[in-house]
This record gives sequence, C-alpha cells and structure tokens, in this order.
Amino acid sequence: MSQTPKYKAMLAGKCPRCRRGNMFSGPMYSFGTNSTHIYCPHCGMKFEIEPGYFYAAMYVSYALNVSQSVTLGLLTYIITQNSTSPWLYLATILGGCFLLAPFNYRYSRIILLYWLSPKVHYQPYLDTDDKPGHA
Ligand SMILES: [Zn+2]
Repeated sequence: MSQTPKYKAMLAGKCPRCRRGNMFSGPMYSFGTNSTHIYCPHCGMKFEIEPGYFYAAMYVSYALNVSQSVTLGLLTYIITQNSTSPWLYLATILGGCFLLAPFNYRYSRIILLYWLSPKVHYQPYLDTDDKPGHA
C-alpha cells in the first residue's frame, strides 16, 4: 500500500487523517465558493474538531501575514531603493496581503491541522482508493 507523502498532502490541501479527501471546495483563487468542507469527503473526519477550532487558525494566519509583509517590504526596498515615500510600501504590502488572503486562509488551516493539532494523526489504513465508511 503506497502512502501519500505529508508535504504533498499539505500542498494539495488534503485531509490530515487520510491524505485523500479535499479539505476545501473549489480552487484556491476563484470568485465562487471558497469554503472548508465540514467533513472529509473521503474518510469522514470532522475538520473543525471542536466548535470554534478554526479561530486558532487566525494566529497562524497572523504569523503568515507578518512574515509576508516583512518580505514584501524588504523586497520593495531592495528593488526600488526607495526611502522617501511610505505610500509605495503601503501599497505593495496591502496589495500583497489582499492577493495572498485566499492562500493564507487555506494554509493557516492546513498548518493548524497538520502541525499544531496533537489530536489529529495520519491513519495510513484510510489512505486507500476505496472509500472507507464514514465516521
Ligand atoms: Zn480524510
């Protein structure tokens, strides 16, 4: 039985328990629905383990935002050598935050479930093509 590597499952936004079912509906960048499935379509795991569990993803999202803002600010300085206008920095950082919001929405929840949730474990027996019973 082949196992799905963790990094692949994380990049693709798969369920942390079976690494098969999609955590999110639709593509990352779309104007349609961009929401988290309540249950894993493959193994039936409830993604929001406890009520309000994804509030914790805000802290992950905050950390992602800060690191992206610092990176964007530094890149803006390195590329333009601008040290007079704050508006250039404001525009690039706010624009970057806006463009990266769907990315942060998804990966904050993925990081939360994969790395910061001690109760969630990978179950290799669920990592199969045939659909196991829903929990
Ligand atoms: Zn699953």
